[in-house]
Amino acid sequence: MSGIEGKVIAITGASSGIGEATARELARRGARVVLGARRTDRLEHLAAEITGAGGQARHRRLDVTDLEDTRAFIDHARTEFGRVDVIINNAGVMPLSALEALKIDEWNRMIDVNIRGVLHGIAAGLPVMKAQGGGQFVNVSSIGGHAVFPTAAVYCATKYAVLAISEGLRQEHQDLRVTVISPGVTTSELADSITDPASKAGMDEFRRIAIPAEAVARAIAYAIEQPDDVDVSEVIVRPTASAY
Ligand code: NDP
Repeated sequence: MSGIEGKVIAITGASSGIGEATARELARRGARVVLGARRTDRLEHLAAEITGAGGQARHRRLDVTDLEDTRAFIDHARTEFGRVDVIINNAGVMPLSALEALKIDEWNRMIDVNIRGVLHGIAAGLPVMKAQGGGQFVNVSSIGGHAVFPTAAVYCATKYAVLAISEGLRQEHQDLRVTVISPGVTTSELADSITDPASKAGMDEFRRIAIPAEAVARAIAYAIEQPDDVDVSEVIVRPTASAY
């Protein structure tokens, strides 16, 4: 199945930012979208908006740190729509701070959501896609998966990990498409997870040139709409005005 129309696309972290914009863009182009995140009120609202505009959407509460929950989310997509063509592992958190601040709970949270969450999406989706004979993973990394910045050591480590895991997955499966999307600074709620005042102030300045989440959504749509024999392995999409 090529293109976007009719594809069943499960999106983690669909309650705000890039995930929300991607759900809208793909549904507008005829995909059947399945929305996952913890804030179900947001998901319900977005699914109603998509359905009201003539699209097809389902939603289910999802915590990507929980493997069984992630399996249940992908099962829900398959039960509702009969198959799962694309899984967008987008959920992420970014509580930046200097290592010296020893915010160890926040380090663990980033590892749990940004790395384990992606692995859980792969664990839930891989058997389904192998049984179907094809599918696509779109894993959201970052420019922080290409370079390290002060206060972002752990966050960048998680995004480098997304790149490594995705490349390993791609090399092991020539019947699947694997895409990494690496956004630069993008308008979303991501910086809301920063509790360290100095890091928050620095990020407020950095984010002044942010691109809209819709720009990243279009990059994701581009990777999905290619013919089955074309794997867009990575897209970096960043503000023109950004050196990073
Ligand atoms: P947002 O904070 O707006 O969105 C993050 C999403 O992740 C929310 O929908 C949130 O939903 C979800 N999420 C967080 N924790 C969990 C969890 N445990 N289980 C399920 N869902 C979870 O930020 P963005 O849209 O910016 O982030 C999307 C991705 O893009 C992230 O991976 C981020 O690292 C990446 N990225 C963003 C950039 C930016 O500048 N915005 C730049 C580079 C990469 P809920 O809280 O309802 O569960």
